[in-house]
Amino acid sequence: MAIKSSFSTPLGEAACENDAKKLQFIEDVTNNTKKVQERYLQRFNLCGSTDRCSFKAKVPVVTYEDLLPDIQRIANGDRSPILCSHPISEFLTSSGTSAGERKLMPTIQEELDRRQLLYSLLMPVMNLYVPGLDKGKGLYFLFIKSETKTPGGLVARPVLTSYYKSEHFRHRPFDPYNVYTSPNATILCTDSFQSMYSQMLCGLLYRHDVLRVGAVFASGLLRAIRFLQLHWHQLTLDIASGELSPKITDPSIRTAISEILSPNPDLSKFIISECSSDNWSGIIKRIWPNTKYLDVIVTGAMAQYIPTLEFYSGNLPMACTMYASSECYFGINLRPMCHPSEVTYTIMPMMGYFEFIPHDGSTTSNSTTLVELADVEVGKEYELVITTYSGLCRYRVGDILLVTGFHNAAPEFKFIRRKNVLLSIESDKTDEAELQAAVARASELLKPFGASVIEYTSQADTKVIPGHYVIYWELLLKSPEEMPGGEVLEKCCLEMEEAMNTVYRQSRVADGSIGPLEIRVVKGGTFEELMDYAISRGASINQYKVPRCVNFPPILELLDSRVILTHFSPACPTWTSCKSGS
Ligand code: AMP
Repeated sequence: MAIKSSFSTPLGEAACENDAKKLQFIEDVTNNTKKVQERYLQRFNLCGSTDRCSFKAKVPVVTYEDLLPDIQRIANGDRSPILCSHPISEFLTSSGTSAGERKLMPTIQEELDRRQLLYSLLMPVMNLYVPGLDKGKGLYFLFIKSETKTPGGLVARPVLTSYYKSEHFRHRPFDPYNVYTSPNATILCTDSFQSMYSQMLCGLLYRHDVLRVGAVFASGLLRAIRFLQLHWHQLTLDIASGELSPKITDPSIRTAISEILSPNPDLSKFIISECSSDNWSGIIKRIWPNTKYLDVIVTGAMAQYIPTLEFYSGNLPMACTMYASSECYFGINLRPMCHPSEVTYTIMPMMGYFEFIPHDGSTTSNSTTLVELADVEVGKEYELVITTYSGLCRYRVGDILLVTGFHNAAPEFKFIRRKNVLLSIESDKTDEAELQAAVARASELLKPFGASVIEYTSQADTKVIPGHYVIYWELLLKSPEEMPGGEVLEKCCLEMEEAMNTVYRQSRVADGSIGPLEIRVVKGGTFEELMDYAISRGASINQYKVPRCVNFPPILELLDSRVILTHFSPACPTWTSCKSGS
C-alpha cells in the first residue's frame, strides 16, 4: 500500500516539507504578533528603556519631508550613523515623490534577506490552493530600470531593480515551484524593448509549460499584451527561422536565447493565426492554454485594470499575493485565489514595527493615539506607520488600510487607497496640488489669447493601453470666435506633462507606459451642469466642490457629451535618467 506523505499545517496540507516549514513559520509569527513586535523594539537603544511607552513618548511620528535633511546628508556622503547603526548600502527610489522627485529610501544590506524571506512564503501559500505548480513554469514580465549615484556615491534605484540584481535573485537555488520562462539575462537588461521582446519570445517558446502568467502590477501585464499586439509579427519570424531579430543586441540575451530558440514553423503559424485575428478576447488562455491563474496586483490603483485583464485572459483568476513598498515589505495574502474585491493582506510581524493612526477622516491625530499591530479593530480604517530595520522611525507610509479580520493574532487588511493620489496609470501618483500646478502652468499659454481655464477635472483613461491622463477644461473666452488654435492647446498638453513629477515623466519617456496627455475642452456651462447633477443626487450646495478627478460613469458620460475640442500632447516631456535616479 502506498503511503501518502502528509505535511499537515493549520493553514492546510502543504505541498512539500519545505512548504510545511514556511507555513508553520507564518503560524508562529502570526500567533505571536505582540511578542515579535516587542522583540523588534528591543533593538532600539532608547536611553536604556526599550518598552513601548518610552518609544511612543520619545520618538516622533514623521513624514518624508521631516527626514529630508538627514536623507540629504547621507546622499551627500555623510557615513555617520544618522538614521541607522548599520551602514546604508543604497537608496531605494520610491514611486512616491517629494517636490516632484522620487523619494529616496535608505536601506541596509540585511534588508535583502528579509525581503527574500517574505518572497519565500508566497509559493507555499499558493501551493495550498493550486496543485501542480511544480509541473511547469511561470511567465513573469519582470524589469529593471537604470540606476544613478547620489553625490556621496550611494547607488539609487528602485527596490525591484535592487532585488533582481542581487545575488539572492540571480543565484537563487533551483526550486521546482518557482521556475521562470525568462532567463535572468532577459530580466537584467535596462533596455525595456529588448527585455520585453526577449521575455515574450521565451514565453511563446514555452507556451505549453506556462502554468501562471504575471507581472508585478496589472498595468505591467497589460503592457506585455499590448507589446504582443504590436510585435507578434517579428516574434513569429524569429520563431519560424530560429534566428533572433537583430534588434536584440544585448550579448547576454542573445546567448541565453540561442539556447532555447530553434526553427519552429508550426508554433510560428499558430501564433500568427491567433494574433492576426481581430478577436483578442481570451488571448492569454489561447496562447498559454495551461495557465491556472494570473499573478498580478489588482488592488488599490490597479483595480481599474480588472475588466481589461478579464477580457484578455478569458476570466482567469487573479492572484494578488503581496503588499510591499520601497520602505518595507509588509505582508502577504493568505487566500491568494480569492476574488480581487475580497483581497486582504496579513502584515507579517517580523518585517518591521507597525503602528496605525486611526483614520476617521479628520486630519488631526497625534502620536499617542497610535494603535499597535495586534490591537487594531475590525471594521476600522488606519494609516500605516512603520519603523524599519534600515532606519525609518515611525514613518507615515501614506497608505490607508481597513481591518477585515485576523489570522491568529495578526490583523488582515484590505488596501483602501493611498492618501492624496488623484491620478495614477501605473506607478505614477499625481496629487491634487500637482494637477493644480500643471493646469496653472499650462493656462499661462492661453493668456496671449485672452483665454483662461475656469474649471477643470480629470480622469485616468485606461481603456487603451498605455493609459493616459485626460484633463477636462472649461475655458473663459473673450468671444466664442477666439478659441485658441489646436497648436496652442497641444502646447498646453505638453506643458502640463512638463509640470508633472519625475515618475510620470519617466513612465512617459523611458518606459512608454503612459500615453500622451489629452485635453478635452468642454462647452461653457458644463461644470455648472456637473454641480446640478451632484446636487440632484443629494450634494449640499454650500459644500459642493468640483471633483478634480472623476470616475463615476454618468459624470464621465456627461462630460464627454459636452466636449468640443480634443488635443493630445505632440511630444514627450523632458526626462533625464541622471537627475531623477529612475
Ligand atoms: P513603492 O514604494 O514605489 O514601491 O510603492 C509602494 C506603494 O505601492 C505602497 O505604499 C502602496 O501604496 C502601493 N502598493 C504596494 N503593494 C500594493 C498592493 N498589493 N495593493 C495595493 N497597493 C499596493
